[in-house]
Amino acid sequence: MKKDITILIVDDIEVNRLILSGIFEDAYNVIEADDGDTALEILRGGASVDLILLDVVMPRMNGIELLGYIKQDARFKDIPVVVNTQSGERENELRALDSGADDFIIKPYNPKIVRRRIDNLIEKYIYQRNAMKDSLEDAQNRIDDLIDTVPGGIGTFETGDGEENNIRLTYFNDALCRLTGYTAHDLKLLTNIFEIIYENDRETFIRLVRKAQNDSIIKSKIRLKRKSGEHIWTGVTVKKIRKDSSKWIYTAVFMDLTDEKEAEDIAKKTLVELRYRAEHDNLTALFNREAFYIAIDKLFKTNPNHEYVIGYWNIDKFKVVNELFGRKKGDEILCDAARWFKDNIRKNGICARFEADHFVTCTTKEYLDEMSDEINRFLAGEVKWNTLNYPIVLHVGFYYVEDMEVPVNLMCDRANMALELIKNNYMTRWSYYNDSLKENIMAEQELITEMKDALKGHQFYVCYQPIVDARTKKTISAEALVRWKHPKRGIISPGFFIPIFEKNGFITKLDMYVCEEVCRHQHEEKKRGNVTVPVSVNLSRINFYNNDLHKEILELLRKYELTSEDIKLEITESAYTDNPEDLVTAIDMLKRYGFKVLMDDFGSGYSSLNMLKDCCVDILKIDMKFMDDIENSKRASNIVYNIITLAKTLDMETLVEGVETEKQYEMLADMGCDDIQGYYFSKPISEEEFVERLMMEQMAES
Ligand code: C2E
Ligand code: CA
Ligand code: CA
Repeated sequence: MKKDITILIVDDIEVNRLILSGIFEDAYNVIEADDGDTALEILRGGASVDLILLDVVMPRMNGIELLGYIKQDARFKDIPVVVNTQSGERENELRALDSGADDFIIKPYNPKIVRRRIDNLIEKYIYQRNAMKDSLEDAQNRIDDLIDTVPGGIGTFETGDGEENNIRLTYFNDALCRLTGYTAHDLKLLTNIFEIIYENDRETFIRLVRKAQNDSIIKSKIRLKRKSGEHIWTGVTVKKIRKDSSKWIYTAVFMDLTDEKEAEDIAKKTLVELRYRAEHDNLTALFNREAFYIAIDKLFKTNPNHEYVIGYWNIDKFKVVNELFGRKKGDEILCDAARWFKDNIRKNGICARFEADHFVTCTTKEYLDEMSDEINRFLAGEVKWNTLNYPIVLHVGFYYVEDMEVPVNLMCDRANMALELIKNNYMTRWSYYNDSLKENIMAEQELITEMKDALKGHQFYVCYQPIVDARTKKTISAEALVRWKHPKRGIISPGFFIPIFEKNGFITKLDMYVCEEVCRHQHEEKKRGNVTVPVSVNLSRINFYNNDLHKEILELLRKYELTSEDIKLEITESAYTDNPEDLVTAIDMLKRYGFKVLMDDFGSGYSSLNMLKDCCVDILKIDMKFMDDIENSKRASNIVYNIITLAKTLDMETLVEGVETEKQYEMLADMGCDDIQGYYFSKPISEEEFVERLMMEQMAES
């Protein structure tokens, strides 16, 4: 083993060289140099020298100088140098050690000592070198292990200048095998790295490689192509290592993004889904309000050269449908309606459901005209668009878009205004918005701003319409009907302001005001010793959401020292449709406190018979619409007669309102109707007139 080691002996005296050679020859290769220059030549010539034995005293270049050259040259500086000095040349020893000598031996040589020292030195040198080699190998192995255990696939690759289409893989770790599904053997045989890159991403990879040429670290996402043919998403980092002549050398790390990509895909899908949900109505999958506004905006911008019409559609008495057939069926009907819109409108327009049974559409005027027959049949329930055996009709308000600058929500509001105008109209199913409608709405707004002050300022007053006994024609009661004496507009009819106050809830305050006015009137008349009759007070449907209604009325009675016999309460039949449970509870409660309850407008709505079954009212007030044809239609008079008879069997009194002619009165009296109210006997009159009327009647009697 030791023969592998070469010792260079540098000494100008031949005999010295001979002695030293003799000491080492058996175990080491020995090269000799007789001066410094020769020694340097040998070293620079590439001879592998493991140790140098150097004589200090030499002509021309002495040993210390040569030592300087050796220790300054990176190639030789690690070669141990042992300096030979004469005994007693302490100074030389020190200089040699200062200049980097590793040891020294002293002439005359003691061969055994010299050999032992050099052996030790070589032993140490070899040990160190090997140890270093081992640790380097060890470190490399550990790095390889590490590289193989990192989750990322690592590859180094090279490519010729401008030949990025041909990229050779020169090194890779286990992870790259795992990522690509290839064995290490497979990867070694790859001619081009493209074989493991998904076709559609190869261009991207070339771009990354080019970019990396200017020393930046490039990151991106590309798909690797696995041996099986499938591809996986990876996050790739490419870095240039160096450029050797015309060869570029790079390293790339590929991180598996499958999970992340999956998560991203799920997130993307979720976003798409969320967006769909945000734009569409869950039930019918039509656009919702916001999406409709956006779509219209876009439509008008991209296609401004058409005449457009916004439609606001409403299913008549949809609440009744829900009530009669259940919510599930109600939802089905809404989906059926949505289908009609999809099939008939969406072909050439945009449809949405804003809420409940309110559908909104936008079409061109031309298309609307073309569809008018179909639309009319749909509105009138003449086309079979749903599964129900029940006539479902609709109303629609249209707004003709004259000015596209008007905000879309306002356009829809205007179509809705046109709808509101005809909502309960049996004859007219559609109407167009016009500016007079706008004026009405403005007037409404004005009333709303004025109503509270009007109540405080006593601008509301009560009229009394007498109700007479059908047999005796004597006034046995009256209905309190409110009027608004507006300082600018004069007297406003309740038919105008009551629906507005019902919408904004103010009606409950007004009803209580009327009730108190009636109580005050009764109280004053009683105090004066005048005859009084019970007076009916109208209670709007909104009151039945108030659980303390009876308490508030009782409180008024107490305040004006009256009993529940002094007033009656009128509740309109349609209140039942809105809120049947609360209404039934409220009626029971009011009756328990001794009030007489009238069912107003009986026969005008859809649920008259249901209502009759559930609500035990005292008096049935038959709607005035029956008076229109009672004189001429046998059928109409039969219906009224049957209602009166039915009421009797249910122990209810009957009152017919809207009686305008003698003939009507006589027919009703013959049918056994109990009480009559109508212009034939009296229009609504002022409080004073009503007091006078009662007095006159009393006087006539006595
Ligand atoms: P309603 O409760 O059905 O009152 C009857 C309406 O018919 C009254 O109209 C009355 O003037 C009118 N009328 C009475 N006899 C005849 C007749 O022979 N022929 C015709 N064509 N009409 C007749 P008015 O006073 O304009 O009241 C309209 C509606 O306003 C009332 O209908 C009622 O629903 C509501 N209303 C009036 N006052 C109040 C009130 O204080 N509170 C509430 N909640 N509603 C009220
Ligand atoms: Ca009434
Ligand atoms: Ca009525």
